[in-house]
Amino acid sequence: MELWQEMIRQSIHSVDQLVEKFKLKKEVAEKLDKFFQARINPYYLSLIRYPGDPIWLQCVPDEKELEDIEGPSDPLNEESMSPVPNITHRYPDRALFLVTSQCGLYCRFCTRKRKVGDSNKISMRTLESAFNYLAQHTEISDVILSGGDPLMLTDAMLEKILIRLREIKHIQVIRLGTKMPCVLPHRITPKLCNMLKKYHPIYINTHFNHPWEITEDSKRACGMLADAGCPVGNQAVLMKGVNDNPDTMKELMKGLLAMRVRPYYIYQADLTKGANHFRTPLDVGLDIMDKLRGHISGLAVPQFVIDAPGGGGKIPLLPNYVISRDEDKIILRNFKYNVYEYPDVRDESKIADKNTYLRRQKKRKRVIDEKELIANLKIPILNN
Ligand code: SF4
Repeated sequence: MELWQEMIRQSIHSVDQLVEKFKLKKEVAEKLDKFFQARINPYYLSLIRYPGDPIWLQCVPDEKELEDIEGPSDPLNEESMSPVPNITHRYPDRALFLVTSQCGLYCRFCTRKRKVGDSNKISMRTLESAFNYLAQHTEISDVILSGGDPLMLTDAMLEKILIRLREIKHIQVIRLGTKMPCVLPHRITPKLCNMLKKYHPIYINTHFNHPWEITEDSKRACGMLADAGCPVGNQAVLMKGVNDNPDTMKELMKGLLAMRVRPYYIYQADLTKGANHFRTPLDVGLDIMDKLRGHISGLAVPQFVIDAPGGGGKIPLLPNYVISRDEDKIILRNFKYNVYEYPDVRDESKIADKNTYLRRQKKRKRVIDEKELIANLKIPILNN
């Protein structure tokens, strides 16, 4: 057994452990265990500094989860976009491939609780139909291995999957969505990295939410992945009490960049059952973005997105930088709130439209002055 597997085995997971370690009432711990089981491995446990801190909030079951019974269990509508078991095909050229229900830590805010934990939730027996689907759909050029966490598979099992994917010629890019570099960096071993190198291009998306998760171990793990030729990106989730302020996010993004991880997304927390207490007003995220852009390297600035409820996909949100705009210019403000005017380039196609418009108007024997014409051109003239 490898060290990381031994550490999984030593995780806190039972009701009795929750009661003893975190002083939960037994009946509450039982209900929480039924709702979404706990798994806190010794490494992540060691990052907790005090009860209720940003690390604790992410992993220790909380009674508040039981108050939120109305939230959807599949907020992103992944099931209805699943043509065969284990596959979600939402975007034209990409597919999500769920390869395990296991994770190195069970995050209390997880959006995929319905699929995570119990090994029956994602069946390995249905992988074959997933491979067939990917082979038949030549438009899919990018496959994201997720779950659960694909790095919970053994190297041998993961390699079998990678070999099968590399046999499908139209799949160009393979991505691994894994939280292991953050929650159990011991999983990133030389043996794993040597195996991954054989199946490039492989991209890694990992998931750090707080600067305290950046440790010597996680730096080493991310550096090994980068040395193995895997570009590593980070998807953080914005959460109340965890990282809902600009200073924490700034420290996180700069820390990630310094350990060769490119900040990719900050997600507005999903509307998922049991996680309502993590949600923040949209202005919190917009304010964070306002205090990142221009204040730190552009390489460290991720996109702030809402993963649209019902399966609409990721939609970026930006603070408002545009003060006004007309056909000749745009008035903008920069990160210091200084105002600038930028002259626009006249759009030739609009001039063509203007000529067409004028001819039609002449036919109708109507005289239109230039001001009125421009006002009209702002409105699509599809029916003219
Ligand atoms: S690692 Fe990902 S899939 Fe697993 S519990 Fe955490 S958020 Fe959910």
